Amino acid sequence: MHFIDAKSLLTRYNGMNLYRGCAHGCVYCDSRSACYQFTHPFEDIEVKRNAPELLEEILKKKRQRIVISTGSMSDPYQPCERELKLTRRCLELFDKYGFGASVITKSDLVLRDIDLFDSINRRTTLSSRTYARPRGGTRC
Ligand code: SF4
Repeated sequence: MHFIDAKSLLTRYNGMNLYRGCAHGCVYCDSRSACYQFTHPFEDIEVKRNAPELLEEILKKKRQRIVISTGSMSDPYQPCERELKLTRRCLELFDKYGFGASVITKSDLVLRDIDLFDSINRRTTLSSRTYARPRGGTRC
């Protein structure tokens, strides 16, 4: 695991990856593909330690409440998330500013944040979705 200060966070389709790389080790994972231009081993998780601060600045400026997704490239519930809580802090911001969340994960650590998904769903008219796909499914 190593840490970076990211310069940007959201993709143009409103996706975000708080971590780059993944420890889950799915054999069918295509996120390791060269087209994603990893400059470090895939299992050496890159942590965007300033992600919550970046996200808050972005959310404050958005005029329209939208659904922001995470998990399409790297799982937001890496084992290190248990201590780092970057995903949890970002969910707290979605809740605070009234944004929806779409989360794809293979980890049951997502259950830790069920209180936030519940609150996000109650506070916004947008839908919040959580997918916990079983091993053997498509990549997260
Ligand atoms: S959880 Fe997703 S990103 Fe991680 S190894 Fe599996 S398919 Fe790849």
